[in-house]
Amino acid sequence: MQRQIFTEEHDAFRETVRTFLTKEVLPHYEQWEKDGIVSRGAWLAAGRQGLLGLAVPEEYGGGGNTDYRYSAVLAEEFTQAGAPGLALGLHNDIIGPYLTGLGTDEQKRRWLPGFCSGEIITAIAMTEPGAGSDLQGIRTTAEDKGDHWLLNGSKTFISNGILADLVVVVAKTTPQGGAKGLSLIVVERGAEGFERGRNLDKIGQKSQDTAELFFNDVRVPKENLLGERDGAFIHLMTNLAQERIGIAVAGIAAAEHLLEITTQYVKEREAFGRPLSKLQHIRFEIAEMATECTVTRTFVDRCIVEHSDGGLDAVHASMAKWWATELQKRVADRCLQLHGGYGYMTEYPVAKAFTDGRIQTIYGGTTEIMKEIIGRSLLA
Ligand SMILES: Cc1cc2nc3c(=O)[nH]c(=O)nc-3n(C[C@H](O)[C@H](O)[C@H](O)COP(=O)(O)OP(=O)(O)OC[C@H]3O[C@@H](n4cnc5c(N)ncnc54)[C@H](O)[C@@H]3O)c2cc1C
Repeated sequence: MQRQIFTEEHDAFRETVRTFLTKEVLPHYEQWEKDGIVSRGAWLAAGRQGLLGLAVPEEYGGGGNTDYRYSAVLAEEFTQAGAPGLALGLHNDIIGPYLTGLGTDEQKRRWLPGFCSGEIITAIAMTEPGAGSDLQGIRTTAEDKGDHWLLNGSKTFISNGILADLVVVVAKTTPQGGAKGLSLIVVERGAEGFERGRNLDKIGQKSQDTAELFFNDVRVPKENLLGERDGAFIHLMTNLAQERIGIAVAGIAAAEHLLEITTQYVKEREAFGRPLSKLQHIRFEIAEMATECTVTRTFVDRCIVEHSDGGLDAVHASMAKWWATELQKRVADRCLQLHGGYGYMTEYPVAKAFTDGRIQTIYGGTTEIMKEIIGRSLLA
């Protein structure tokens, strides 16, 4: 089915992203995967190309365009190129809205120009060794010391954790407040007592630096509180919808890409004297996946449009996230199977997509948590 949500401007932007991938990302990607990290130069190149801060107001060096479809194009192209390691989407669509939506004028002037140029790479640190799905279990504390916050605790699984120059940390500011006692505290590179732990060794997305962070008596200036004191939970709930639709967009894009390369593969690969595609079982496999992808595409595109218009709610974002990523997981597994032994070889894109994509049903809220959100909304 013809997609109908994009204009010529979006198509032109897609070409820009493709050129950027071809010139600035793909030639280096193998090395980045070996290094376990991308280069800072790629971030600066993305800034020069106007791929950072798409929705940030122009006065701070951003694109000034809040049409979410541009972000969707970026996510689709990076996914289909097999290059999730350069986490522009995390920076633009997950951390960006906290800075633009909650930042004071002074904070925006301080952080946004570097955010848009690629000089300030960002991360968000919610998860801790003992608290992932249940953010009420967060133990990192930010004590009010009058003229500063005293930050203590540790975080894990933080994307961009090694490269980040600015980390939005979720910390307890009112110890007995439960979910209502959490705040967003911005920690900047170089703060005394802020240390990075291991760059974690993952099964996929090898070039994405996912790290542990430690905060030992870090004195954070009072003016680095982002948003309301004790208001983090509400801020997170407001912004997580965008994170989830972004993961869904990548999920369906990955599934479609896997289907495309596998369709080609089964036409070329021969067994028992004819192409695999002549076998009914193979045709049924492809037919089922194509149907599931088409149905999912329709729903996700509808969510993209609603989100661009500002109307996508948390429940539909959760539906899109769990559905599209579980589809991605199923399609990756079936496509790998259809490649036979070659599918298990890392040099084949299907193998890389299988391991790179496996995280999709876990981060940004697991499938189970998405179902909890949906179920609660229906059965409250
Ligand atoms: C590569 C990677 C990148 C990440 N990036 C970031 C990042 O940038 N910032 C950040 O803060 N975090 C990040 N995370 C963390 C990620 O968001 C968490 O791993 C995720 O939220 C799950 O938390 P957990 O690992 O503690 O699992 P747990 O919460 O311990 O869950 C374990 C299992 O129990 C299930 N479960 C838990 N609660 C329920 C429930 N109520 N009902 C049913 N089932 C339940 C879960 O669905 C899961 O299957 C990242 C993780 C990875 C692996």
